[in-house]
Amino acid sequence: MTKTSPTPVPLPPPAAAIDLGGRTALVTGGGSGIGRACALALAQAGADVHVVDRDGAAAEAVAETTGGTAHVVDLADAEAVWLLPSEADILVNNAGLQHVAPLTEFPVDRFELIQKVMVTAPFLLMRQVLPHMYERGWGRVVNVSSVHGLRASAYKSAYVAAKHALEGLSKVAAIEGAPHGVTSNCVNPGYVRTPLVEGQVRDQAAAHGISEDEVLSGVMLARSPVKRLLEAEEVAAAVLWLCGPHSGYLTGASLPLDGGWTAG
Ligand code: NAD
Repeated sequence: MTKTSPTPVPLPPPAAAIDLGGRTALVTGGGSGIGRACALALAQAGADVHVVDRDGAAAEAVAETTGGTAHVVDLADAEAVWLLPSEADILVNNAGLQHVAPLTEFPVDRFELIQKVMVTAPFLLMRQVLPHMYERGWGRVVNVSSVHGLRASAYKSAYVAAKHALEGLSKVAAIEGAPHGVTSNCVNPGYVRTPLVEGQVRDQAAAHGISEDEVLSGVMLARSPVKRLLEAEEVAAAVLWLCGPHSGYLTGASLPLDGGWTAG
């Protein structure tokens, strides 16, 4: 007989603040950008946060702010991933990197590294933390995918392949986790205002001899009806909501935070 999902506990009113007291979260790439914003938001809601990043200083700084624990780990190293805590109620698979080159010239080692960090590490971490979530009858897996988990762009073969793979992995976790009170979802940001993206805007403006505004509206945001960058805090707010009490029926989904890009 199919196991039914646990009966939810009575819900707080929809407008109540999300309380993650007593929950433990693990956020990869938590030292910077979106991961940092997620770590701060989850900690503010009361979670004990493990901040995982290969950049030790960045991870330590965020852990100090959140009162959490820093783990300096290269997620491309499977042996090091095994040493991370398995007792997490919330897993945010966020760490990622980009490499831009035509498919015919794409360096094989970069392609493989991107799959390791953005697909294999999330798989290993799910494999590691799901038994604890199943035991507690509650868990939230949030995968920071991208609009590139839903759409392709030229020159981003490794990134697009990895994000599409993450989408599939997230759906399998959703189906397997449902009887145990575990949801798994993706969030799919368009371009987010991070130092990396701001640098790209400056570089493209210089390269094409156009203003930064023109790079934003004409190049980066060409496919986005909302003509502004997304803020990391907006992504973190969606991630936090996915970890709250009113999201238990939303699983296997991909939440486009893309200014309408995929609506077109
Ligand atoms: P970021 O570069 O600011 O942060 C990424 C973090 O991941 C860094 O702290 C980095 O040290 C860490 N990291 C990278 N490789 C690692 C490894 N091997 N081991 C451990 N840590 C590693 O980037 P961000 O913009 O905040 O992106 C975070 C996630 O959001 C990524 O998965 C990215 O694909 C996704 N995303 C970003 C944007 C955007 O516009 N910035 C848009 C859509 C999706």
